[in-house]
Amino acid sequence: MSTTEAESSSTSKPTSSVAASHRISVHTHIHGLGLNDEGEVDPGVNSCGLTGQVLARQACGLVVDLVAMQQLAGRALLLVGPPGTGKTALAMAMAQELGRNDSQHTPHPFCPMVASQVYSKEVKKTEVLMEHFRKAIGLRIREEKEVYEGEVTELTVEETNDPLAASGIGKTISHVILGLKTAKGTKTLKLDPTIYDSLAKESVTVGDIIYIEANSGAVKRVGRSDSFATEFDLEAEDYVPLPKGDVHKKKQVVQDVTLHDLDAANAQPQSSGSRDVMSVLASMGKPKKTEITDKLRQEINKVVNRYMDQGVAELVPGVLFIDEVHMLDMECFTYLNRALESDLSPIVVLATNRGVTPIRGAPETKSPHGIPVDLLDRLLIVPTYPYEKDEMAQILAIRASTEQLVIDDDALQHLAERGVTTSLRYAVQLLTPAHIVAETHGRSKITVADVQQVDDLFLDGKSSSQRLMLAAAATGG
Ligand code: ATP
Repeated sequence: MSTTEAESSSTSKPTSSVAASHRISVHTHIHGLGLNDEGEVDPGVNSCGLTGQVLARQACGLVVDLVAMQQLAGRALLLVGPPGTGKTALAMAMAQELGRNDSQHTPHPFCPMVASQVYSKEVKKTEVLMEHFRKAIGLRIREEKEVYEGEVTELTVEETNDPLAASGIGKTISHVILGLKTAKGTKTLKLDPTIYDSLAKESVTVGDIIYIEANSGAVKRVGRSDSFATEFDLEAEDYVPLPKGDVHKKKQVVQDVTLHDLDAANAQPQSSGSRDVMSVLASMGKPKKTEITDKLRQEINKVVNRYMDQGVAELVPGVLFIDEVHMLDMECFTYLNRALESDLSPIVVLATNRGVTPIRGAPETKSPHGIPVDLLDRLLIVPTYPYEKDEMAQILAIRASTEQLVIDDDALQHLAERGVTTSLRYAVQLLTPAHIVAETHGRSKITVADVQQVDDLFLDGKSSSQRLMLAAAATGG
């Protein structure tokens, strides 16, 4: 079959980390910022699961536009507001908007972290930051694969003295011929002995269909399906010349990965510089033990830049969300300042609920939000505010329907009131236990009594700290 006759198909196989970055259950109801074409909150427009925080949403929308226009380089966003006022939800909505602005609806990675995660005994603080930075930078790789389909026409199995021979006790494959289907009829291809063991393990036999993925006429992968889900091991890269200019089928492959996926997959003692895109990707999913070094990251960056120059790969900057940013210290802030300058930088969204406070690592220096002024200078600061009862009720109603829980209106209002005096998060957390209580009473609808019952069982954060303070005062502590 000539290339003009070639069939084309497309597969999109998001990697685990890109897919996982979107699997954050407390925010599953958030699908975007819910703005109209003018970038405003508009009752006539789907709110994408968000309620209130009108100015913050509009500001975040503007930041998304700046990112799309590539005008945010070297800067970051700082969300400032009390706990539970939707800072994480807004950052996540931004990641989804970035995907929406993209004609291909590319998933943009969203990588949330809490600043205190940088403090570990095993790993350097800047290493933790670097890893999260790279988890938030996506790469969409498109490649056209040449795929050949062949039928096993000859296969010789021989007796062996090795009782553990791959094809079963005492047997091994010694010769395999494939009949490759091409436009000019069937061509025979002798498979290389290096994969006989793998074929034997898969119990390949005469009449089986085998697929070969080729690159510039050289065999890259051999598998049982053209998605290469069950792939046979290949040691040599270009040992069998395939029929030239006679591509049986072309297959568009799209892979969404993050830079960290590539780092982790290629953390092995071999150079990635000379490797092609598919072998770099193929390394993913195979367990590796070697640690990720700066040198390896630089190598990966080089390969990535080359793919981008060749038009094979495109950068998909995601959102790195660092909550409780006041917990970072001077060294981390210096790192952040530098990392923001890099060409390969995600959109960095920071959040804090602190006012003027000492900077960690420099207790004598007080600064707004515990952030050094030179970094503060680079930040676009957006405030979020506590919710009114009505907004609280709306959010709780959305959460209830997301969790497929039914709540009657009085219970919803009661829970919203509790949310105002305690916190939104506490009120949201009571929904599922209240549903369980309702079910034990043989009901599917949550009532005020159910909410009160679970509210009596648990303490919210504020009440708990008040109790502790009262106890301390009573004991003179
Ligand atoms: P913290 O400072 O404690 O990290 P936060 O400001 O990041 O809190 P979130 O985690 O975003 O708060 O919000 C708490 C819960 O309420 C989440 O489930 C979130 O999705 C939901 N939520 C918050 N604000 C909104 C909103 N405006 N609309 C819809 N859901 C919201």
